[in-house]
Amino acid sequence: MKRGSTKKAEKGQREITCLEAFRSLYPFLDGEFGSERNREIQRHLDRCRACCTKFEFEKALKSLIQEKAREAEVPLHLRQRIASFNRGLLGLRGEGAELNER
Ligand SMILES: [Zn+2]
Repeated sequence: MKRGSTKKAEKGQREITCLEAFRSLYPFLDGEFGSERNREIQRHLDRCRACCTKFEFEKALKSLIQEKAREAEVPLHLRQRIASFNRGLLGLRGEGAELNER
């Protein structure tokens, strides 16, 4: 079976797919790529709204996390919420937990 070109790419420019873009998301945001690779991804983002939205979201999330991490300490109420959330998850699974009391 032949792998025909799916699209007519601009000459000399490699087209990346959404899957490639998605795989590149985190290294891209972490700045692990060279400028050429970055341009390829950026070009895809300029054309592809779905990926663009996704990247923007992750970028915002990432900077938010970094911002929070810089504040050094997680607020107590947030920690309590996370803890109770985790307990809730465990509770859903461990339906038989109370039976141990006998
Ligand atoms: Zn895409």
